[in-house]
Amino acid sequence: MSSRLARELTGVPPEVQSRLERAGLRRTLATRAVLGLFLTRPRSRLTHAQAQAALTARGLDLNRVTLYRLLDRLAVCGVLRREADEQRIWRFSLAPTGDTLAETDGAGPRFECDTCHRRFELSDAGEPTRAVTRDLFEALARLGHQGRRLDVSIHGTCASCVTPNDLAEGIA
Ligand SMILES: [Zn+2]
Repeated sequence: MSSRLARELTGVPPEVQSRLERAGLRRTLATRAVLGLFLTRPRSRLTHAQAQAALTARGLDLNRVTLYRLLDRLAVCGVLRREADEQRIWRFSLAPTGDTLAETDGAGPRFECDTCHRRFELSDAGEPTRAVTRDLFEALARLGHQGRRLDVSIHGTCASCVTPNDLAEGIA
């Protein structure tokens, strides 16, 4: 085991730990390594293949089927979130815990980078955005529907993925 992997096995948040325990998931080396992958990059949304490549890069050669099962089990017990992306490929990310819940459940607009698939919350949405939200809920109410939640999701390229060429085109 590399020293980097060893470092990442520490620091599992208590809430994640208790979810693992409730689900009866043993903290094997593989479980801790997969957790470490997501805990060190809380915004990342990884496919099975990306998770496997990242683990291999960290010196852990996990059987493909074992990793598939492990990711699914972590999703079932609520440690990871499993969502299909726009290409209908399953992506895994860290499920929100008490610390991050307020941030991710804020119903604010979200931005997703189509290149690296990280998500960013745009928490400082202004009054016009809130007005649009009210408008939409009122339109629903006039039709007798009860709107509860609005997800605004913007797709594009994040600051780390955008190339200088794209920037120049954007300005031109
Ligand atoms: Zn990106």
